[in-house]
Amino acid sequence: MLTIATILFMYQEPQARPKPAKEPKTRAEQTRAATPEIAYTVTMSKPATHLLEVEMRLKWPAGPQSVDLKMPVWTPGSYLVREYARHLQDFSAKSASGQALGWRKINKNTWTVDSKGAGEIVVSYRVYSNELTVRTNELNDEHAFWNNGALLLFPKDQLKAPSTVAVRPYGKWKIATGLPKVAGQTNAFRAENFDVLYDSPFEVSDFNEIAFNVQGKPHRIVMSGEGNYDLRQMAKDVAKIAEEGYKIFGELPYTDYTFIVNLRGGGGLEHLNSTALQWSRFGFKPQSRYNGFLNLVAHEYFHLWNVKRIRPDALGPFDYENENYTKLLWVAEGVTSYYESLLLRRAGIISDKEFLDGKASMIEQLQARPGRFETSLEEASMDAWIKYYRQDENSVNNQISYYDKGDVVGMMLDITIRTASGGAKSMDDVLRFLYNEHFKKGKNYTPEDLQKAAEMMAGKSLDDFFTKYVRGEAEIDYDSIMNGIGIKTNVTEPNKGRAYIGADLTEEAGKLTIRAVAADTPAYEQGLNSGDQIVAVDGYRASQAFLQSYLSDKKPADKVKLTIFRFDKLRDVVFTLGGNLRKDYGFAPLDNPTAEQRKLYQGYLNAEL
Ligand SMILES: [Zn+2]
Repeated sequence: MLTIATILFMYQEPQARPKPAKEPKTRAEQTRAATPEIAYTVTMSKPATHLLEVEMRLKWPAGPQSVDLKMPVWTPGSYLVREYARHLQDFSAKSASGQALGWRKINKNTWTVDSKGAGEIVVSYRVYSNELTVRTNELNDEHAFWNNGALLLFPKDQLKAPSTVAVRPYGKWKIATGLPKVAGQTNAFRAENFDVLYDSPFEVSDFNEIAFNVQGKPHRIVMSGEGNYDLRQMAKDVAKIAEEGYKIFGELPYTDYTFIVNLRGGGGLEHLNSTALQWSRFGFKPQSRYNGFLNLVAHEYFHLWNVKRIRPDALGPFDYENENYTKLLWVAEGVTSYYESLLLRRAGIISDKEFLDGKASMIEQLQARPGRFETSLEEASMDAWIKYYRQDENSVNNQISYYDKGDVVGMMLDITIRTASGGAKSMDDVLRFLYNEHFKKGKNYTPEDLQKAAEMMAGKSLDDFFTKYVRGEAEIDYDSIMNGIGIKTNVTEPNKGRAYIGADLTEEAGKLTIRAVAADTPAYEQGLNSGDQIVAVDGYRASQAFLQSYLSDKKPADKVKLTIFRFDKLRDVVFTLGGNLRKDYGFAPLDNPTAEQRKLYQGYLNAEL
């Protein structure tokens, strides 16, 4: 709780930029002349109201008659239309001399201001900010966290324009952001264009922080909130992860990097030279949970290459008003997920066995989804906008996660390339190629570019692999791939003899309800529905604990009477129990691995097979 009196910060105007030619002649000069100077000021005078106050100043050498100001509908990295404009209120516009200007809304996210040729206009509004996620805004008496894409309007057709953001923090709060400071000014930052501005979240609070260098470049971790973390140890581990990224690409393509961590909820969002993370306050012990945090750090950090610079076709420059469709989210997200624990293994934070166990459990989850036969990786990527962030009870049956299957297929592609090239090439080479030949030459990459790069490294066609596992829904033949590095899958059916219903249940306030029903289960075959409330089994009150003990005495093919509420009507169902078919997946060494297999395993995981 903050009890410090608000300090008023003097705000200075941004430094004047060179004036454009007075009488533009060429088209380029005309465009330049039409670009306004854009300066935002963000104030948080009443944190308890959750209202961030924004002032936006636009200055032109020759002002237009009207100007359209727009709020993005989404923010890159989180592929869902979130309609940030719904939180904007108290909009007003005036000239620099204080004369009110007319304005109107022309669609959900556009405000048209009648600027009437004024050389400078001042627009003010407030944005309700009471949702802490990595892609939304929060202001309260503990802190302010925001994404510029969810707070700052952009002038239509001016996404290439530079801007400045001056922040007036509440009390003695400090500021963390990846944006560079405006020279000579306090609490003012600059962005060279809107893709950079909208890529740079702010945390403003009384945070803890630690600074460290990696390859001579400054990095800092900003922790908003108290928790059971050891900041010094964290800095050491995060530096190791960054070093492993550096080893792959041979450079750190930023001047500095900021990790912003809020200690509530979970998740992360990647940016060019920063990341916003959320983790639970006491989630840094024991080591296994701390490793989960480091996985998250590695994921978002690795994105600075994979997606922020190695960019899929449609992902940048961005269209902030519509969906940006790509078939490559499985690479952007799934391959990044694959590299999370690979970086931790290379940094020596986890063992080769821990790495393989993690990947085996990912395979186990994929193999338990009937949806793997319905949707390919490319389809799941395209449909992220309508499916991934809007999962429902049928998702298990008709969808896969491009994160999880992308992780698995990324691993299979890596091992395929390693095996085909005798260990000379790997997925590192594919990503390095895309970085050097696409990003550095100003080009995004397409699905065809990716396949070509992978084939170049493998030294052979991978069309069969891509047709089956990337563009298709074929069952993955794990052993034929994993054998290349001397590993086989161990598949067991530990609960086969145990009776089960096969529905995904949830219990809340004493109510046992079916959340989802996977295809091929007894519940699916016998018509149980998501939303059904199971009231009793054989006349006894149903609960998770009761079901577990009661069914442990039953066998597959035994019958029970389920009493359920479907909507508001009670009914009895005679239900035939089935046998649990869920399989456990693990990896184990082949019985007699060859010298080549041992060599490839060593090269892959830096350990003896
Ligand atoms: Zn990600």
